[in-house]
Amino acid sequence: MKQSNNRTIERPNNEKLEKIRHSLSHIMAHAVEDIYKDVKFGIGPTIEDGFYYDFELPRLLTNEDLPKIEKMMKKLLAQNIEFKKSEVTPAEANQRSIKQPYKLELIKELAKDGQTISYYTSGGFDDLCAGPHVNNTREIPSDAFKLTRIAGAYWRGDEKNPQLQRIYGVAFETKPELENHLKMLEEAKNRDHRKLGQELELFMIDEEVGPGLVLWLPKGAILRKEIENFVLEEYQKKGYQLVLTPHIASQKLFSKSGHLGFYKDGMYSPMDIEGEQYYAKPMNCPFHIKIYKHTNHSYRELPIRYTELGTVYRYEKSGVLHGLLRVRGFTQDDAHIICTEEQLTDELVGVIDLTKYILETFGFAKFKVVLSIRGKDNKKNYLGSDQEWKLAEEGLKKALTVGKWDYEVEEGEAVFYGPKIDIKVLDVMGREWQISTLQLDFNQPKRFDMTYIDNEGNKKRPFMLHRALLGSLERFTGVLIEHYAGAFPTWLSPIQVYIIPVGKDHFKFSEELGKTLKEANIRAEVDLNRETVGYKIRKSEKMKVPYMLVIGDKEMKSKSLNVRIRAHKEVKKMTQKTFVDRIKKEIVNNK
Ligand SMILES: [Zn+2]
Ligand SMILES: [Zn+2]
Repeated sequence: MKQSNNRTIERPNNEKLEKIRHSLSHIMAHAVEDIYKDVKFGIGPTIEDGFYYDFELPRLLTNEDLPKIEKMMKKLLAQNIEFKKSEVTPAEANQRSIKQPYKLELIKELAKDGQTISYYTSGGFDDLCAGPHVNNTREIPSDAFKLTRIAGAYWRGDEKNPQLQRIYGVAFETKPELENHLKMLEEAKNRDHRKLGQELELFMIDEEVGPGLVLWLPKGAILRKEIENFVLEEYQKKGYQLVLTPHIASQKLFSKSGHLGFYKDGMYSPMDIEGEQYYAKPMNCPFHIKIYKHTNHSYRELPIRYTELGTVYRYEKSGVLHGLLRVRGFTQDDAHIICTEEQLTDELVGVIDLTKYILETFGFAKFKVVLSIRGKDNKKNYLGSDQEWKLAEEGLKKALTVGKWDYEVEEGEAVFYGPKIDIKVLDVMGREWQISTLQLDFNQPKRFDMTYIDNEGNKKRPFMLHRALLGSLERFTGVLIEHYAGAFPTWLSPIQVYIIPVGKDHFKFSEELGKTLKEANIRAEVDLNRETVGYKIRKSEKMKVPYMLVIGDKEMKSKSLNVRIRAHKEVKKMTQKTFVDRIKKEIVNNK
């Protein structure tokens, strides 16, 4: 099954808990109907940590409604209600859900696909559902769930549809597990990159610019530039060559690449330029292929590795957009490696090793590797023959084995042109984030007739690897903000030193100190506002600046600085030179 790339928390493979959660979504719907009457029901599935249900209600819910609904749910649970399943014909289903337009829509689709239609009845509540459920509400602990929030959700995630009200709940098998989880949610809220992005003045999203389109503020641009510079330098050390390509291209290019045939849903509508259709690019590959084909290549030149910080545009429904994590335009640290069959394993292993090094430098210590292969039942969604897919999938497996990586296999998660390896990181809270991707492509080299001349003078078809190690820079930055809770290591901090003069008499000295630090390539900011020292210290703490210097009479007379170090929550006396050397060392070492 297709999984949202927004998934952040490991989904437990626990059947009993799944049943509890799913049953609670019915009980919640039951309670909502009892309280608010005239309710139209959407869907109510389980999610990573609980469940939700979508409702169309006579009025907008507020957070005050949640305890009321919870109370009603507990009352229902105490009644030892049984869940009874019944299978019905489409005609019976239409009758049973006659007042439920959303359910009727679902029934129509189930009937069209010839699927079994089933209902679950629990007490006075009847719901179209495939199950499974608990047998009796006795199996549901009434102190291990909590309704957490209300959100707007378009029916089926499509903004053209009516907006429903979604109530989220979390549920576990025991009360301590619930309490732990609630604590974790609170911590996650403090780390939310949308909140921190605003507080730290990193980025904004403006309605007039459009949802899912990010504006990077000066401090955010510094952070992002540091990330970009670091990876580009590492890639170039590994023999990658930088290329640059445009944001749009003629439909001719995307027809040839297969994107218009297999990826059109992910692309925006075309624009007309002198009678020809142009598309915003969803991927950079076809452009890099054109660059490869600019000249003839001999086997001696391979592997060729083209890299680009390429900005791509992919269609996302507004309902799924989420801060920096899911956007409509984003920049990939993309690269395409063109190589011979013999070079394939070395190149793959090289990319995975480089990924690990890069992600570790950014402070991630734990990884999860997933091999995504073609689905068995929907081969028509993929380009290429069985033989080619087998070769490609075996190629990736071999590289993972040679590199001694543990991995999981996910079926049906491959890209239309080939299988892929995804690398996920675990952040400090143990949340899982999909970051890096490495894809093997035997299709586009064929479609574009890419060749090289082998050592016997024969024309041969190369392989192509697509790889983006940070994935999207927007998403990666979002993950990084949450991982560090905004307290970035020195080399990434938009402000590295915050200088606070105590009074007007200390302005000049502070400014000169700031100048000295800036000349040493240290990002220093001097706060010349007229607020109190205490206020400025709090401001610096809120901005999570790694080093703070308060400058008063004592500091001006003395040869040394009193350095407040964020990481140690302490003040240390050191000479200006020691201080500068310390920061420069951290910057050079990506610390
Ligand atoms: Zn159900
Ligand atoms: Zn590509």
